[in-house]
Amino acid sequence: MKLPFRKIGNTPQDFEVFSENVTFKGTLEHYQCGLIMLDGEIKGALSVPCDLCAENFDTILDEELKILLSDGIFNGHDEDYDVVESLTGMIDINEILSSELESFRSDYHCCPECQDN
Ligand SMILES: [Zn+2]
Repeated sequence: MKLPFRKIGNTPQDFEVFSENVTFKGTLEHYQCGLIMLDGEIKGALSVPCDLCAENFDTILDEELKILLSDGIFNGHDEDYDVVESLTGMIDINEILSSELESFRSDYHCCPECQDN
């Protein structure tokens, strides 16, 4: 799902995308200084490798994600939120989701069996 920056105004625009067993949905809304606020949640089951036995297992995600999206290079900085730049004029929701899922995957994970031992 891709949305052009110029289409996002003061009325929150809903989005919803899926990846494997994960749902990412929320709203996009004009913030300030040409920035767009993405306010969403990531929910579902993500298959991750266990750091101890290397077996994949499903972990349950229930995460809020609030970030700012910049149309082009952002030279300022925001006290409260991370700013993600886009150089294409488009907001690529799937791309945002996959980079979030990548960072979840690279966290430390321990499968239920290893937790029991
Ligand atoms: Zn394990």
